[in-house]
Amino acid sequence: MTAARRVVLATGNAGKQREFAALLAPRDFEVVLQTTLGIEAADETGSTFEANALIKARHAARVARLPALADDSGLEVDALGGRPGVWSARYAGPGATDAANNALLLQELGNVAPAGRRARYRCVIAYVRHADDPAPLIATGDWEGSIAPQPAGEGGFGYDPLFIPEGLTISAAQMPAADKNAMSHRGKAMAELLRLLP
Ligand code: IMP
Repeated sequence: MTAARRVVLATGNAGKQREFAALLAPRDFEVVLQTTLGIEAADETGSTFEANALIKARHAARVARLPALADDSGLEVDALGGRPGVWSARYAGPGATDAANNALLLQELGNVAPAGRRARYRCVIAYVRHADDPAPLIATGDWEGSIAPQPAGEGGFGYDPLFIPEGLTISAAQMPAADKNAMSHRGKAMAELLRLLP
């Protein structure tokens, strides 16, 4: 029997933690949350999802002295020229709640017709064996959809009450968690990462 791989998960976002726990459950990982180790969130100073995912993973690996896994993700809305993008968590300001971000999104979109409400979630996951790993593993996933005129559903997190996945008529927040993980940007990126891991 091989020992479980110990890895620190560099996120304090409870919604992401739940999804990562479910996605990694079938694999032999012992996941330690950076919050459990008292590790503060890194400053997300990058301008791309990949840069920020790497900043977070290297920071957690440096402090925890463990391999680290981090994602950076967000929502790109066509009618807003791709915003909020890497600023999705801070769209309505530093420390903004999901409700405030969703309200601002609806306000900015106003009466934009359905065709202009196309959007996608993007996720980049970075895995580093140690803080200065010169060959980090990078995996990506996208999830196409559109922004509803009003929120619906209690599941998921973030923009899920407003995100209608392509091909569906319900919001991501109305999907059972396992269904969301099977088709989401994070689920796709994690599947790719698991294929890349030695
Ligand atoms: P990050 O922690 O800087 O990567 O910020 C990600 C932000 O993007 C979250 O706080 C949400 O606002 C949004 N986001 C990313 N993935 C999802 C998702 O699966 N559902 C809903 N919102 C998401």
